[in-house]
Amino acid sequence: MRITFIIPSYNEEANVAPFFDAATEAFARQSDFDGFELLFIDDGSTDGTLAAIRELVPPAQVDVRAVSFSRNFGKEAGMYAGLQHATGDIQAIIDADLQQPPRVAFEMAHQLICHPEYDCVAAYQEQRKQGAVHNALARRFYKTLKSSSGMDVVADASDFRAFRRNVADALLQMPEYFRFSKGLFSWVGFRTLAWPYEVQERNAGSSS
Ligand code: UDP
Ligand code: MG
Repeated sequence: MRITFIIPSYNEEANVAPFFDAATEAFARQSDFDGFELLFIDDGSTDGTLAAIRELVPPAQVDVRAVSFSRNFGKEAGMYAGLQHATGDIQAIIDADLQQPPRVAFEMAHQLICHPEYDCVAAYQEQRKQGAVHNALARRFYKTLKSSSGMDVVADASDFRAFRRNVADALLQMPEYFRFSKGLFSWVGFRTLAWPYEVQERNAGSSS
């Protein structure tokens, strides 16, 4: 079995190597997968993100690949390109800044190995750390989304997910130009397991 991490990356030069180290260490500790693809999507970074990716030296069984955009298109476009290029039987979307631990991505992928009835595992934050106003607005947003579109998106869901290739294939058949992945994941269906995790502080750089 092969797993792909899809890593949307915008101006993450200081995070590329620490992320790679944490991801390859987590891969070495697990036994579900014998192949690991790290697929960075360089979203038109203006810093040394692509150069940092080129410097990575992957160990055996690990492949590093990158898609590099001509300008900044946004994380949604990055995730779509990731789905187009990923080769893993199981794929995970994970941020480059280590707010979402690679170890947890392997835990989520492990659920898919143990529970064939699920096709997707969606991480959610056990405790939102953004403060009361942000939390209230987020709740309002997801409530409005549900009443207007019928899509039930878990309020604390993130883009941090692991899923089988059939889910990726279904998402790739949705050619919407302005994408909202949390809604698209809900729209395409598939049995989804919610997986709690504790969001970490950003390793380096600042939120975009
Ligand atoms: N990102 C991206 N394109 C963008 C903005 C962000 O690919 O235009 C990536 C970013 O490098 C990170 C992830 O999306 O890996 C989440 O972004 P960020 O950490 O800025 O968001 P936050 O965690 O603060 O919500
Ligand atoms: Mg972040």
